[in-house]
Amino acid sequence: MNESFDIQSIRKQFPILDQEVYGKPLVYFDNAATTQKPLCVIERERAYYLNENCNIHRGVHYLSQKATEAYENARKTVADFIHAREAREVIFTRGTTESVNLLATSFEHFFIQEGDTVLVSAMEHHSNLVPWQQMVQRHHGNLLVIPMSDQGELDLNCYSELLDQRPKLVAVAHVSNVLGTINPVKEMVRMAHEKGIPVVIDGAQSVAHMPIDVQDLDCDFFVFSGHKMYAPMGVGVLYGKAEWLEKLPPYQFGGEMVDVVSFERTTFNVLPYKFEAGTPNVGAALGLEAAIRFLQRLDRSAVESHEATLLHAAVDRLCGIEGIRFIGEAKNRSGLVSFVVKGVHPYDLGTIIDKMGIAVRTGHHCAEPVMTRFGIPGTVRASFAMYNTLEEVDAFVAAVKRAALMLR
Ligand code: PMP
Repeated sequence: MNESFDIQSIRKQFPILDQEVYGKPLVYFDNAATTQKPLCVIERERAYYLNENCNIHRGVHYLSQKATEAYENARKTVADFIHAREAREVIFTRGTTESVNLLATSFEHFFIQEGDTVLVSAMEHHSNLVPWQQMVQRHHGNLLVIPMSDQGELDLNCYSELLDQRPKLVAVAHVSNVLGTINPVKEMVRMAHEKGIPVVIDGAQSVAHMPIDVQDLDCDFFVFSGHKMYAPMGVGVLYGKAEWLEKLPPYQFGGEMVDVVSFERTTFNVLPYKFEAGTPNVGAALGLEAAIRFLQRLDRSAVESHEATLLHAAVDRLCGIEGIRFIGEAKNRSGLVSFVVKGVHPYDLGTIIDKMGIAVRTGHHCAEPVMTRFGIPGTVRASFAMYNTLEEVDAFVAAVKRAALMLR
Protein backbone atom coordinates (compact mmCIF):
# COMPACT_ATOMS: atom_id res chain seq x y z
CA MET A 1 0.00 0.00 0.00
CA ASN A 2 1.31 3.44 -0.89
CA GLU A 3 2.48 5.31 2.21
CA SER A 4 1.50 8.74 0.92
CA PHE A 5 -2.07 7.62 0.41
CA ASP A 6 -4.27 8.40 3.42
CA ILE A 7 -7.17 6.03 2.99
CA GLN A 8 -8.86 6.98 6.28
CA SER A 9 -9.08 10.63 5.40
CA ILE A 10 -10.47 9.67 1.98
CA ARG A 11 -13.11 7.38 3.48
CA LYS A 12 -14.27 10.17 5.82
CA GLN A 13 -15.29 12.08 2.73
CA PHE A 14 -17.66 9.29 1.69
CA PRO A 15 -20.05 8.90 4.66
CA ILE A 16 -22.25 6.42 2.74
CA LEU A 17 -19.50 3.82 3.14
CA ASP A 18 -19.80 3.92 6.91
CA GLN A 19 -22.92 1.78 7.27
CA GLU A 20 -24.02 -1.77 7.88
CA VAL A 21 -26.19 -3.84 5.55
CA TYR A 22 -27.85 -6.94 6.99
CA GLY A 23 -25.82 -6.26 10.15
CA LYS A 24 -22.47 -6.45 8.30
CA PRO A 25 -20.16 -3.58 7.37
CA LEU A 26 -20.87 -2.51 3.80
CA VAL A 27 -18.16 -3.44 1.28
CA TYR A 28 -18.94 -1.48 -1.87
CA PHE A 29 -17.31 -3.16 -4.88
CA ASP A 30 -19.74 -1.98 -7.56
CA ASN A 31 -17.80 1.09 -8.55
CA ALA A 32 -17.81 0.35 -12.27
CA ALA A 33 -21.61 0.72 -12.14
CA THR A 34 -21.39 3.98 -10.22
CA THR A 35 -18.99 5.45 -7.69
CA GLN A 36 -20.02 6.97 -4.39
CA LYS A 37 -19.90 10.76 -4.05
CA PRO A 38 -17.63 12.70 -1.70
CA LEU A 39 -19.08 15.38 0.58
CA CYS A 40 -17.61 18.19 -1.51
CA VAL A 41 -19.63 17.03 -4.53
CA ILE A 42 -22.86 16.63 -2.56
CA GLU A 43 -22.32 20.01 -0.95
CA ARG A 44 -21.62 21.73 -4.26
CA GLU A 45 -24.90 20.55 -5.74
CA ARG A 46 -26.76 21.49 -2.57
CA ALA A 47 -25.17 24.95 -2.52
CA TYR A 48 -26.27 25.49 -6.09
CA TYR A 49 -29.90 24.76 -5.24
CA LEU A 50 -29.70 26.70 -1.97
CA ASN A 51 -28.10 29.86 -3.31
CA GLU A 52 -27.61 29.97 -7.05
CA ASN A 53 -30.38 28.03 -8.80
CA CYS A 54 -31.48 29.69 -11.99
CA ASN A 55 -31.90 28.91 -15.65
CA ILE A 56 -28.77 29.80 -17.56
CA HIS A 57 -27.82 31.73 -20.69
CA ARG A 58 -31.15 33.53 -20.75
CA GLY A 59 -31.54 35.98 -17.91
CA VAL A 60 -30.26 39.47 -17.52
CA HIS A 61 -30.66 39.26 -13.76
CA TYR A 62 -28.04 38.56 -11.14
CA LEU A 63 -28.78 34.90 -10.34
CA SER A 64 -29.01 33.90 -13.97
CA GLN A 65 -25.68 35.52 -14.72
CA LYS A 66 -24.04 33.86 -11.71
CA ALA A 67 -25.39 30.43 -12.68
CA THR A 68 -24.31 30.89 -16.30
CA GLU A 69 -20.82 31.90 -15.20
CA ALA A 70 -20.56 28.89 -12.87
CA TYR A 71 -21.74 26.50 -15.60
CA GLU A 72 -19.29 27.87 -18.16
CA ASN A 73 -16.49 27.69 -15.60
CA ALA A 74 -17.37 24.03 -15.04
CA ARG A 75 -16.96 23.51 -18.78
CA LYS A 76 -13.48 25.08 -18.61
CA THR A 77 -12.58 22.84 -15.66
CA VAL A 78 -13.60 19.75 -17.65
CA ALA A 79 -11.62 20.96 -20.67
CA ASP A 80 -8.49 21.42 -18.52
CA PHE A 81 -9.01 18.06 -16.85
CA ILE A 82 -8.96 16.15 -20.15
CA HIS A 83 -6.50 18.58 -21.78
CA ALA A 84 -8.91 19.72 -24.48
CA ARG A 85 -7.56 22.54 -26.60
CA GLU A 86 -10.66 24.70 -26.07
CA ALA A 87 -13.68 24.76 -23.74
CA ARG A 88 -16.07 24.80 -26.73
CA GLU A 89 -14.91 21.26 -27.51
CA VAL A 90 -16.68 20.08 -24.33
CA ILE A 91 -20.39 19.35 -24.72
CA PHE A 92 -22.37 18.54 -21.58
CA THR A 93 -24.71 15.57 -22.00
CA ARG A 94 -26.58 13.26 -19.62
CA GLY A 95 -23.79 10.69 -19.77
CA THR A 96 -21.82 8.31 -21.98
CA THR A 97 -24.96 6.79 -23.50
CA GLU A 98 -26.34 10.13 -24.57
CA SER A 99 -22.93 11.23 -25.86
CA VAL A 100 -22.71 8.18 -28.14
CA ASN A 101 -26.31 8.60 -29.30
CA LEU A 102 -25.61 12.23 -30.08
CA LEU A 103 -22.63 11.25 -32.21
CA ALA A 104 -24.41 8.38 -33.96
CA THR A 105 -27.38 10.61 -34.86
CA SER A 106 -25.18 13.44 -36.10
CA PHE A 107 -22.89 11.15 -38.06
CA GLU A 108 -25.83 9.47 -39.73
CA HIS A 109 -27.05 12.76 -41.13
CA PHE A 110 -23.57 13.94 -41.94
CA PHE A 111 -22.09 11.12 -43.95
CA ILE A 112 -23.45 7.63 -43.59
CA GLN A 113 -24.37 6.04 -46.91
CA GLU A 114 -25.79 2.77 -48.17
CA GLY A 115 -23.74 -0.21 -46.99
CA ASP A 116 -21.38 1.76 -44.70
CA THR A 117 -19.71 0.12 -41.71
CA VAL A 118 -18.52 1.15 -38.24
CA LEU A 119 -15.65 -0.70 -36.56
CA VAL A 120 -16.17 -1.56 -32.88
CA SER A 121 -14.32 -3.94 -30.58
CA ALA A 122 -15.52 -7.30 -29.26
CA MET A 123 -15.61 -5.91 -25.72
CA GLU A 124 -17.91 -2.91 -26.11
CA HIS A 125 -20.61 -1.97 -23.63
CA HIS A 126 -24.04 -1.96 -25.32
CA SER A 127 -23.95 1.85 -25.15
CA ASN A 128 -21.01 1.98 -27.55
CA LEU A 129 -22.38 -0.75 -29.77
CA VAL A 130 -26.16 -0.58 -30.24
CA PRO A 131 -26.32 3.10 -31.35
CA TRP A 132 -23.72 2.38 -34.06
CA GLN A 133 -25.36 -0.88 -35.05
CA GLN A 134 -28.79 0.72 -35.42
CA MET A 135 -27.30 3.59 -37.38
CA VAL A 136 -25.52 1.45 -40.00
CA GLN A 137 -28.38 -1.05 -40.23
CA ARG A 138 -30.76 1.72 -41.25
CA HIS A 139 -28.50 2.03 -44.31
CA HIS A 140 -28.12 -1.71 -44.90
CA GLY A 141 -24.59 -1.63 -43.51
CA ASN A 142 -23.16 -3.53 -40.57
CA LEU A 143 -20.66 -3.46 -37.74
CA LEU A 144 -17.12 -4.74 -38.16
CA VAL A 145 -15.70 -6.22 -34.96
CA ILE A 146 -12.11 -6.32 -33.69
CA PRO A 147 -11.69 -9.77 -32.15
CA MET A 148 -10.02 -10.41 -28.80
CA SER A 149 -7.87 -13.18 -27.33
CA ASP A 150 -8.83 -15.50 -24.47
CA GLN A 151 -6.97 -13.11 -22.17
CA GLY A 152 -9.25 -10.28 -23.29
CA GLU A 153 -6.76 -8.35 -25.44
CA LEU A 154 -7.69 -6.89 -28.81
CA ASP A 155 -6.00 -8.36 -31.88
CA LEU A 156 -4.24 -5.39 -33.46
CA ASN A 157 -3.27 -7.32 -36.61
CA CYS A 158 -6.92 -8.00 -37.31
CA TYR A 159 -7.67 -4.39 -36.42
CA SER A 160 -5.23 -3.21 -39.08
CA GLU A 161 -6.85 -5.50 -41.68
CA LEU A 162 -10.33 -4.34 -40.71
CA LEU A 163 -9.26 -0.71 -41.15
CA ASP A 164 -8.48 -1.61 -44.77
CA GLN A 165 -12.19 -2.26 -45.24
CA ARG A 166 -12.62 1.49 -44.76
CA PRO A 167 -15.16 1.74 -41.95
CA LYS A 168 -16.59 5.23 -41.55
CA LEU A 169 -15.57 5.36 -37.90
CA VAL A 170 -13.87 3.40 -35.11
CA ALA A 171 -15.61 3.24 -31.69
CA VAL A 172 -13.66 1.57 -28.89
CA ALA A 173 -13.64 1.38 -25.10
CA HIS A 174 -10.61 2.80 -23.32
CA VAL A 175 -11.15 0.32 -20.47
CA SER A 176 -13.53 -2.65 -20.66
CA ASN A 177 -16.23 -2.64 -17.97
CA VAL A 178 -16.24 -6.47 -17.95
CA LEU A 179 -12.60 -7.44 -18.42
CA GLY A 180 -10.77 -4.43 -17.06
CA THR A 181 -8.53 -4.45 -20.15
CA ILE A 182 -6.88 -1.11 -20.87
CA ASN A 183 -6.89 -0.93 -24.65
CA PRO A 184 -3.94 0.66 -26.49
CA VAL A 185 -6.15 3.48 -27.71
CA LYS A 186 -3.36 5.90 -28.59
CA GLU A 187 -1.86 3.35 -30.98
CA MET A 188 -5.31 2.48 -32.31
CA VAL A 189 -6.02 6.15 -33.05
CA ARG A 190 -2.69 6.47 -34.86
CA MET A 191 -3.44 3.41 -36.99
CA ALA A 192 -6.95 4.64 -37.87
CA HIS A 193 -5.73 8.14 -38.71
CA GLU A 194 -3.16 6.70 -41.13
CA LYS A 195 -6.18 5.61 -43.13
CA GLY A 196 -8.13 8.81 -42.54
CA ILE A 197 -10.69 7.20 -40.20
CA PRO A 198 -11.96 9.10 -37.11
CA VAL A 199 -12.02 7.46 -33.65
CA VAL A 200 -14.47 7.69 -30.75
CA ILE A 201 -13.12 6.56 -27.36
CA ASP A 202 -15.55 5.41 -24.67
CA GLY A 203 -13.84 6.65 -21.52
CA ALA A 204 -16.63 5.66 -19.09
CA GLN A 205 -14.34 3.27 -17.21
CA SER A 206 -11.03 5.10 -17.57
CA VAL A 207 -11.61 8.71 -16.61
CA ALA A 208 -11.83 8.10 -12.83
CA HIS A 209 -8.75 5.92 -12.75
CA MET A 210 -6.08 7.44 -14.99
CA PRO A 211 -5.14 10.88 -16.31
CA ILE A 212 -6.72 11.66 -19.69
CA ASP A 213 -5.06 13.82 -22.32
CA VAL A 214 -7.26 13.96 -25.42
CA GLN A 215 -4.64 15.90 -27.36
CA ASP A 216 -1.99 13.31 -26.65
CA LEU A 217 -4.40 10.48 -27.56
CA ASP A 218 -5.31 12.53 -30.64
CA CYS A 219 -8.79 10.94 -30.58
CA ASP A 220 -11.52 12.72 -32.49
CA PHE A 221 -14.09 12.14 -29.74
CA PHE A 222 -13.95 11.05 -26.10
CA VAL A 223 -17.09 10.34 -24.07
CA PHE A 224 -17.69 9.73 -20.36
CA SER A 225 -20.21 9.89 -17.49
CA GLY A 226 -19.86 11.99 -14.36
CA HIS A 227 -21.38 9.40 -12.04
CA LYS A 228 -18.53 6.92 -12.58
CA MET A 229 -15.98 9.51 -11.49
CA TYR A 230 -17.40 10.59 -8.11
CA ALA A 231 -19.77 13.17 -9.66
CA PRO A 232 -23.58 13.21 -9.63
CA MET A 233 -25.76 11.21 -12.01
CA GLY A 234 -27.33 13.03 -14.92
CA VAL A 235 -24.25 14.70 -16.36
CA GLY A 236 -21.65 13.49 -18.80
CA VAL A 237 -19.38 14.78 -21.50
CA LEU A 238 -18.84 14.55 -25.20
CA TYR A 239 -15.43 15.89 -26.14
CA GLY A 240 -14.91 16.41 -29.86
CA LYS A 241 -12.23 18.13 -31.90
CA ALA A 242 -13.63 21.52 -32.89
CA GLU A 243 -13.16 20.80 -36.59
CA TRP A 244 -15.43 17.77 -36.26
CA LEU A 245 -18.05 19.40 -34.05
CA GLU A 246 -18.24 22.34 -36.44
CA LYS A 247 -19.08 19.97 -39.31
CA LEU A 248 -21.61 17.78 -37.49
CA PRO A 249 -25.29 18.81 -37.49
CA PRO A 250 -27.21 19.32 -34.22
CA TYR A 251 -28.62 16.32 -32.38
CA GLN A 252 -31.69 17.79 -30.71
CA PHE A 253 -33.56 20.95 -31.57
CA GLY A 254 -35.18 23.52 -29.33
CA GLY A 255 -34.21 26.42 -27.14
CA GLU A 256 -30.64 27.56 -26.67
CA MET A 257 -29.13 25.74 -29.64
CA VAL A 258 -30.53 28.20 -32.17
CA ASP A 259 -29.36 31.50 -33.60
CA VAL A 260 -32.25 33.02 -35.63
CA VAL A 261 -35.66 31.34 -35.89
CA SER A 262 -38.55 32.06 -38.21
CA PHE A 263 -41.36 29.87 -39.50
CA GLU A 264 -39.43 29.44 -42.73
CA ARG A 265 -35.97 28.62 -41.45
CA THR A 266 -33.63 28.37 -38.45
CA THR A 267 -29.94 29.00 -38.08
CA PHE A 268 -27.97 27.35 -35.29
CA ASN A 269 -25.89 28.62 -32.41
CA VAL A 270 -22.10 28.26 -32.24
CA LEU A 271 -20.23 25.54 -30.35
CA PRO A 272 -20.79 24.20 -27.78
CA TYR A 273 -24.41 25.45 -27.56
CA LYS A 274 -25.34 23.95 -30.93
CA PHE A 275 -25.35 20.55 -29.17
CA GLU A 276 -27.02 21.59 -25.91
CA ALA A 277 -30.72 22.00 -26.64
CA GLY A 278 -32.97 22.87 -23.69
CA THR A 279 -32.16 23.38 -20.03
CA PRO A 280 -29.10 21.43 -18.93
CA ASN A 281 -28.46 19.81 -15.56
CA VAL A 282 -26.59 22.77 -14.13
CA GLY A 283 -26.38 21.43 -10.56
CA ALA A 284 -24.86 18.14 -11.75
CA ALA A 285 -22.36 19.96 -13.99
CA LEU A 286 -21.21 21.94 -10.94
CA GLY A 287 -21.02 18.66 -9.02
CA LEU A 288 -18.84 17.28 -11.82
CA GLU A 289 -16.55 20.27 -11.48
CA ALA A 290 -16.32 19.63 -7.72
CA ALA A 291 -15.46 15.95 -8.41
CA ILE A 292 -12.68 17.03 -10.77
CA ARG A 293 -11.29 19.44 -8.17
CA PHE A 294 -11.47 16.61 -5.63
CA LEU A 295 -9.43 14.33 -7.93
CA GLN A 296 -6.98 17.11 -8.71
CA ARG A 297 -6.26 17.66 -5.01
CA LEU A 298 -5.12 14.04 -4.70
CA ASP A 299 -1.87 12.46 -5.79
CA ARG A 300 -3.38 10.60 -8.73
CA SER A 301 -0.46 8.25 -9.20
CA ALA A 302 -0.84 7.23 -5.54
CA VAL A 303 -4.54 6.60 -6.18
CA GLU A 304 -3.68 4.51 -9.24
CA SER A 305 -1.16 2.42 -7.37
CA HIS A 306 -3.61 1.93 -4.47
CA GLU A 307 -6.25 0.63 -6.90
CA ALA A 308 -3.65 -1.63 -8.55
CA THR A 309 -2.73 -3.03 -5.11
CA LEU A 310 -6.39 -3.86 -4.46
CA LEU A 311 -6.75 -5.55 -7.85
CA HIS A 312 -3.64 -7.69 -7.48
CA ALA A 313 -4.56 -8.69 -3.93
CA ALA A 314 -8.06 -9.69 -5.03
CA VAL A 315 -6.78 -11.76 -7.98
CA ASP A 316 -4.09 -13.43 -5.82
CA ARG A 317 -6.50 -14.35 -3.05
CA LEU A 318 -9.34 -15.47 -5.32
CA CYS A 319 -6.92 -17.83 -7.11
CA GLY A 320 -7.17 -20.25 -4.20
CA ILE A 321 -10.89 -20.88 -4.80
CA GLU A 322 -11.59 -24.22 -6.41
CA GLY A 323 -13.14 -24.00 -9.88
CA ILE A 324 -12.58 -20.26 -10.32
CA ARG A 325 -12.12 -18.94 -13.84
CA PHE A 326 -11.12 -15.34 -14.42
CA ILE A 327 -12.73 -13.59 -17.37
CA GLY A 328 -10.20 -11.04 -18.56
CA GLU A 329 -6.52 -11.51 -17.83
CA ALA A 330 -4.97 -8.80 -19.95
CA LYS A 331 -1.46 -7.66 -19.06
CA ASN A 332 -2.58 -4.07 -18.93
CA ARG A 333 -5.72 -3.75 -16.84
CA SER A 334 -7.57 -1.45 -14.53
CA GLY A 335 -9.25 -1.96 -11.15
CA LEU A 336 -11.81 -4.68 -11.62
CA VAL A 337 -11.95 -8.45 -11.55
CA SER A 338 -14.57 -10.60 -13.29
CA PHE A 339 -14.91 -14.32 -12.70
CA VAL A 340 -17.11 -17.40 -12.67
CA VAL A 341 -16.94 -20.40 -10.32
CA LYS A 342 -17.55 -23.83 -11.78
CA GLY A 343 -21.00 -25.18 -10.89
CA VAL A 344 -22.18 -21.88 -9.38
CA HIS A 345 -24.45 -19.36 -11.08
CA PRO A 346 -23.02 -15.82 -10.78
CA TYR A 347 -26.42 -14.48 -9.71
CA ASP A 348 -26.66 -16.95 -6.80
CA LEU A 349 -23.15 -16.11 -5.70
CA GLY A 350 -23.86 -12.36 -5.83
CA THR A 351 -27.09 -12.79 -3.87
CA ILE A 352 -25.43 -14.76 -1.10
CA ILE A 353 -22.48 -12.45 -0.64
CA ASP A 354 -24.85 -9.49 -0.60
CA LYS A 355 -26.25 -10.94 2.63
CA MET A 356 -22.68 -10.83 3.96
CA GLY A 357 -22.53 -7.09 3.23
CA ILE A 358 -20.64 -7.32 -0.07
CA ALA A 359 -21.97 -5.34 -3.04
CA VAL A 360 -20.80 -6.69 -6.39
CA ARG A 361 -22.39 -6.78 -9.82
CA THR A 362 -23.46 -10.02 -11.47
CA GLY A 363 -24.74 -10.71 -14.98
CA HIS A 364 -23.69 -9.67 -18.46
CA HIS A 365 -22.77 -6.10 -17.48
CA CYS A 366 -24.49 -4.69 -20.59
CA ALA A 367 -21.96 -6.49 -22.78
CA GLU A 368 -23.75 -9.61 -23.98
CA PRO A 369 -21.37 -10.27 -26.89
CA VAL A 370 -18.52 -10.60 -24.34
CA MET A 371 -20.48 -13.33 -22.55
CA THR A 372 -21.10 -15.11 -25.85
CA ARG A 373 -17.38 -14.85 -26.69
CA PHE A 374 -16.45 -16.60 -23.43
CA GLY A 375 -19.41 -19.02 -23.50
CA ILE A 376 -20.81 -17.96 -20.11
CA PRO A 377 -24.15 -16.55 -18.93
CA GLY A 378 -22.54 -13.82 -16.85
CA THR A 379 -19.79 -13.07 -14.38
CA VAL A 380 -19.35 -11.82 -10.85
CA ARG A 381 -17.59 -8.47 -11.07
CA ALA A 382 -15.84 -6.69 -8.22
CA SER A 383 -14.72 -3.19 -9.17
CA PHE A 384 -12.58 -0.99 -6.98
CA ALA A 385 -12.34 2.69 -6.19
CA MET A 386 -9.90 4.82 -4.25
CA TYR A 387 -11.79 4.39 -0.96
CA ASN A 388 -11.65 0.58 -0.91
CA THR A 389 -9.26 -1.23 1.41
CA LEU A 390 -7.29 -4.47 1.60
CA GLU A 391 -9.44 -5.50 4.58
CA GLU A 392 -12.48 -5.21 2.31
CA VAL A 393 -10.75 -7.39 -0.27
CA ASP A 394 -10.21 -10.00 2.47
CA ALA A 395 -13.87 -9.84 3.52
CA PHE A 396 -14.93 -10.19 -0.12
CA VAL A 397 -12.69 -13.20 -0.83
CA ALA A 398 -13.81 -14.92 2.40
CA ALA A 399 -17.46 -14.32 1.42
CA VAL A 400 -16.92 -15.74 -2.09
CA LYS A 401 -15.24 -18.83 -0.60
CA ARG A 402 -18.14 -19.43 1.79
CA ALA A 403 -20.79 -18.85 -0.87
CA ALA A 404 -19.04 -21.16 -3.35
CA LEU A 405 -18.95 -23.94 -0.73
CA MET A 406 -22.63 -23.44 0.08
CA LEU A 407 -23.70 -23.48 -3.56
CA ARG A 408 -21.69 -26.39 -4.88
N1 PMP B 1 -19.50 2.41 -21.59
C1 PMP B 1 -18.94 1.70 -20.61
C2 PMP B 1 -17.60 1.06 -20.84
C3 PMP B 1 -19.60 1.58 -19.38
O1 PMP B 1 -19.05 0.87 -18.39
C4 PMP B 1 -20.87 2.21 -19.21
C5 PMP B 1 -21.64 2.09 -17.90
N2 PMP B 1 -21.64 0.83 -17.33
C6 PMP B 1 -21.40 2.95 -20.27
C7 PMP B 1 -20.69 3.02 -21.43
C8 PMP B 1 -22.72 3.64 -20.15
O2 PMP B 1 -22.64 4.68 -19.22
P1 PMP B 1 -23.94 5.48 -18.74
O3 PMP B 1 -24.92 4.44 -18.30
O4 PMP B 1 -23.45 6.33 -17.61
O5 PMP B 1 -24.44 6.27 -19.89
